[in-house]
Amino acid sequence: MQTLVDHHGRSFPYLRLSLTEACNYRCTYCLPDGYQVNGHPSFLTLAEIGRLVCGFAALGMSKIRLTGGEPSLRKDLPAIIAAVAAVPGIRRIALTTNGCRLPRLVRGWREAGLTALNVSLDSLDAARYLDITGHDRFAEVTEGIEHALELGFEAVKINAVLLRGRNDDELPAWLDYLRGRDVALRFIELMRTGENGEFFERHHVRAEGLQRQLLADGWMLRPRAADAGPALEYAHPDYRGRIGVIAPYARDFCAGCNRLRVTARGDLRLCLFGNFGISLRPLLQSDDDHHALVAHIATQLGLKAAGHGLHQGLTGITPHLASIGG
Ligand code: SAM
Repeated sequence: MQTLVDHHGRSFPYLRLSLTEACNYRCTYCLPDGYQVNGHPSFLTLAEIGRLVCGFAALGMSKIRLTGGEPSLRKDLPAIIAAVAAVPGIRRIALTTNGCRLPRLVRGWREAGLTALNVSLDSLDAARYLDITGHDRFAEVTEGIEHALELGFEAVKINAVLLRGRNDDELPAWLDYLRGRDVALRFIELMRTGENGEFFERHHVRAEGLQRQLLADGWMLRPRAADAGPALEYAHPDYRGRIGVIAPYARDFCAGCNRLRVTARGDLRLCLFGNFGISLRPLLQSDDDHHALVAHIATQLGLKAAGHGLHQGLTGITPHLASIGG
């Protein structure tokens, strides 16, 4: 079997696939005014998603992350999970969600074949959670995480975006939370996008201080698996949970990039902050185009750049992460 490798020697076992641009949240750093429908967006259908994943799997891709927008807004999500799980070669299917529908739906997703779950939870304080996300759903999300922990997922992870003055004093609360729970928390450094410039200036905080604190407290950096996400992960013998840090502004962040993205409209994006997308949709209309699709993806991958331009304030064509599948 072929493996996807680009001209910079990076291999890509991992695809992030956005299922929708729509989101029911209004996170202050992403879609503060909520999702605005623009025209009649048409997102990839179940059949198109099946063909797309077959194409990537033929090139050696083994892990798919379903994201959005908010992927749980898709009524056909269990069918999508099952279709992806049925593709030969796909071993891991993860989902990133805001978690508000977990209590009702997570068991069905697990039964359909989901193997890992990432839940966004920016604060352990319900009032702050409401303030940051615009939604009073802290109880559902935390209850949903407890449900998920009983379902035998390979991994349950929590994403928390670090925000100066809003949640950057919560390490002690997180440590209490992680002491007895088999959860991997990811602190994500806020990224500048096309639309959040002012918010970014006020609330961006580097993760380095947090990393120094973890090391001083006896947390140890763990080795990174080949198909792992972008986090540096720390563990501590006194805690069941682990802490990861995703620092996109750190040196060499892009050298470790093993991710490709496909938007909800079927555009291949070689970098979250790149300047162009490549439409795969015309090749997703018929099973007969499978070989053409595989060849097209392989050719386009040669174009993945060595790094993003975030350090220069270049955010590419990404207005916010919900539009492309953060
Ligand atoms: N709706 C789903 C959710 O809430 O997890 C999936 C999509 S959301 C765009 C994926 C992740 O990106 C979330 O954890 C969110 O907090 C994070 N995110 C969104 N905008 C971000 C930004 N500007 N910087 C860092 N992380 C961001």
